[in-house]
Amino acid sequence: MINLKAINLHKIIMKLKDPFVTSSQTIQEKEILLIEVIDENNLQGWGEVVAFSSPWYTEETIQTAEHIIEDFLIPLLFNQSFSHPSEVANLFSIYQRNSMAKAGIEGAIWDLYAKQNSLPLSKVIGGVRKKIDVGVAIGIQPSIEKLIDLIKIYVDEGYKRVKIKIKPGYDIQVIDRIRSLFPNLALMVDANSAYSMKDLPLLKELDPYQLLMIEEPFKPNQFIELMHLQKEIETPICLDESIHSFEDVRLAHVLGSGKIINVKIGRVGGLTEAIKIHDYCLNNGISIWCGGMLETGIGRAHNIALASMENFTIPGDISASSKYWDEDIITPEVSVQHGQIQISSGYGIGYEVNRRRLDKYLLYTKFFKKTDI
Ligand code: MG
Repeated sequence: MINLKAINLHKIIMKLKDPFVTSSQTIQEKEILLIEVIDENNLQGWGEVVAFSSPWYTEETIQTAEHIIEDFLIPLLFNQSFSHPSEVANLFSIYQRNSMAKAGIEGAIWDLYAKQNSLPLSKVIGGVRKKIDVGVAIGIQPSIEKLIDLIKIYVDEGYKRVKIKIKPGYDIQVIDRIRSLFPNLALMVDANSAYSMKDLPLLKELDPYQLLMIEEPFKPNQFIELMHLQKEIETPICLDESIHSFEDVRLAHVLGSGKIINVKIGRVGGLTEAIKIHDYCLNNGISIWCGGMLETGIGRAHNIALASMENFTIPGDISASSKYWDEDIITPEVSVQHGQIQISSGYGIGYEVNRRRLDKYLLYTKFFKKTDI
């Protein structure tokens, strides 16, 4: 049995080193909810809620997640018994969606469970890699020159794959320039839903550039339109915002709405669902990679563990802590050497939470004890 004695919700706010610009958003600061679960032996597990402050990416926000966790998920956990983290998703399934809220708590329980069993999280979930290849995601830049400078820096640092964000008016010309300078770069683009079927001629123009993929070209969940688009273009379509569950992956696969899946633990409701997606894709020859949500080291560490699984063959958006933050809240920070991250052999997520730094960015903590419920 996993006996939770207490759960603490820490709300923090951290400033990104540089604003991150997508086709519709500019993110400068990130509010983050960290979940600390504590068992009867005072072992702690940590999880991170990756929702943004506004509902532009999915319907969740950091505030809705706090409400769902506090008023529904914590009471449920304190009232139910369970012996393995993979049972938590089923417990939570009485409540609809709210995937990032669920994933934050489930992640903390996975970390706790791995620590209880004196194992790295990557081993607990069946990870097979000692190191993972990683890529970098670069937001929309004020000028192509600035973008080219950044790509040079990341290529020199050894990142194995570069992703750029695109939007109408900041696409072909930018890609053409990058390709002329970096003909062999593993390059992909992310549209964050900025196009529609009327842009088909332009999307066809991407084919000669040998992109690894185009991520989420249309509005989320337009599986039928994506099916038509994939028949018309050679560039593989990768689905991000459209995938909320294992069932979405199955739908996309059966329809042929894309060829690649970006797996994000928060978006699909937790590690248990992410593992299910991994296994399905492995068995059906679908390529996958691990996406990022501008996480602190805690969420980043969960992503690293996930990406150690067999079918994560494309480098994920799992950069060094220092790409985003002046200082991270874990020790050691996540570091990238020659485009690779070493899988920690430490127990659980394999990184310690740095309490002093956590306190520095802390807005407040809410404490829940089992007897309070
Ligand atoms: Mg994306």
